[in-house]
Amino acid sequence: AFIMGAMFWLRRSKLRFRRMARPDCLTGAIPRGYFFDEAERVVRRLHLADAEVCLVVLDLDHFKRVNDTHGHPAGDEVLRHAVTICRTELRESDVFGRLGGEEFGILMPGCSRDQGIEVASRIRRHLIEHPLTLDARNTIKVSASFGLACSDASGHQLHKLFGDADAALYRAKEGGRNQLVATTDADAPVTVRTDIPAISAM
Ligand code: GH3
Ligand code: MG
Ligand code: MG
Repeated sequence: AFIMGAMFWLRRSKLRFRRMARPDCLTGAIPRGYFFDEAERVVRRLHLADAEVCLVVLDLDHFKRVNDTHGHPAGDEVLRHAVTICRTELRESDVFGRLGGEEFGILMPGCSRDQGIEVASRIRRHLIEHPLTLDARNTIKVSASFGLACSDASGHQLHKLFGDADAALYRAKEGGRNQLVATTDADAPVTVRTDIPAISAM
């Protein structure tokens, strides 16, 4: 009975894992549950290696308007377009997932705060510089807001990294959208300085 029970448990876990690991069918990004499992595993490994890590949460701006103006299928197209743009800026080792609706998470292992800011800024610029061409008459311009947390200030606990990145994202939205807010260590404030407009430090 014990062996049967163990086998049943193992099979159920396997099925659950497979289901979670299945990419989101709209964008091909990994879904929320699997993103957090994978991010947890990577962050733990980096903690042991005493290596830095950045977590970025990004959310498309006024996405509801895109759906309302151009229709849901066009909205889907914009989501795929945004994912393609993110992918072109990311490395093989980065963990990229769809956290829900039009919100995405990027975990960048071995990435310093400055490098993380650089990558997120590139994605932000890439998005606004490449509107989606729907047809001859319609292009859809889309921007995103970004929240960034780095292990230098937030430590190596995923829930803390995520909470800080999420709070930063909230600030980016409040600050007018289409911008990146990076959390900083209050004891040693880091001023995020860049020639790219609309980036602020928290
Ligand atoms: P904000 O700048 O504050 O983020 O505004 P927003 O309009 O992007 O945010 P809000 O949460 O009000 O709306 C998100 C919209 O995203 C509403 C929902 O219908 C749409 N959405 C969520 N998932 C999908 C999807 O898979 N496809 C499409 N086309 N739309 C989606
Ligand atoms: Mg949004
Ligand atoms: Mg959202």
